[in-house]
Amino acid sequence: METIKTDVLVIGGGIAGCFAAIRAREMGNSVLILEKSSLRRGGGVGPGMDHINMGIWPKGLLNPETARQKAILSKKDLLDPNVVFAMDKGAYARLLDLEKFGVLIREDDGSYRVWEIPERRYSFVSYRGRQTKVKLAAAVAATGAKVLERTMAVDLLTQDGKVIGAVGFDVREGTLTACLAKATIVCTGDSGRQYLEPDGLFMTYQPTTNTGDAQAVGYRAGAKCTNMEYIYMDYVSLRTGAALPGSSHSRRWAPW
Ligand SMILES: Cc1cc2nc3c(=O)[nH]c(=O)nc-3n(C[C@H](O)[C@H](O)[C@H](O)COP(=O)(O)OP(=O)(O)OC[C@H]3O[C@@H](n4cnc5c(N)ncnc54)[C@H](O)[C@@H]3O)c2cc1C
Repeated sequence: METIKTDVLVIGGGIAGCFAAIRAREMGNSVLILEKSSLRRGGGVGPGMDHINMGIWPKGLLNPETARQKAILSKKDLLDPNVVFAMDKGAYARLLDLEKFGVLIREDDGSYRVWEIPERRYSFVSYRGRQTKVKLAAAVAATGAKVLERTMAVDLLTQDGKVIGAVGFDVREGTLTACLAKATIVCTGDSGRQYLEPDGLFMTYQPTTNTGDAQAVGYRAGAKCTNMEYIYMDYVSLRTGAALPGSSHSRRWAPW
């Protein structure tokens, strides 16, 4: 079995994995990404996106203190408020990063198309984001990070209670690779494909690769599992579990 050593191992090359890899490279680390599908089109954002959910938008409805209070309130739904608040705080900076990577988000006149839903205290910026993941993958490639595509992390490797890497399985060749790392970041998306829709289909709009691998490998390695619910900046529905008419996100909370 081949063995690869790296400073940082990123499992899952979706939008989170790409950002993690870029940041780790900026900090001077060698980086290896294991991606079950392809970096250019893998993950929820792979086919494209049409809006970016915004937490603390400069001209928006949430100021940092309101956002913090809302994050704390969300704790009763088993969420870690620090994670929720960090997402809120970081969203605008990530939008600027995407622009730096060549994603066109502004309108022709240089403005952003911002939508606000006051009753949900929620803003988003809409744009034509079909190439978002392609641009992000190019930004990863420019950092020199090593990427193994069509390679699925099947388990984390542990030693003395610490994670020291993972085993990758090439889904086309059937070969195994041992990846040893000083730090391992698991970014394999949500487990959307595991949820049964009211019509009996498994959330087929979710990427086929989203099968809850992070939760499974983390659990087997003894990780503390938190924030298992969908983290969303719409705290109103998070706190109440209210089903928002027409919202596919609300379906996951339905008691079927
Ligand atoms: C159809 C659809 C439309 C959406 N539209 C928007 C939108 O317009 N705006 C918005 O803000 N959000 C949107 N979302 C939500 C958004 O896509 C997600 O919040 C986001 O993609 C999550 O990023 P992620 O990197 O955590 O996970 P993902 O993007 O799901 O990436 C996870 C990656 O990990 C890989 N992977 C999984 N398991 C393994 C494994 N064991 N080993 C190696 N790799 C693995 C997968 O192949 C995938 O590439 C949309 C989601 C969907 C499904």
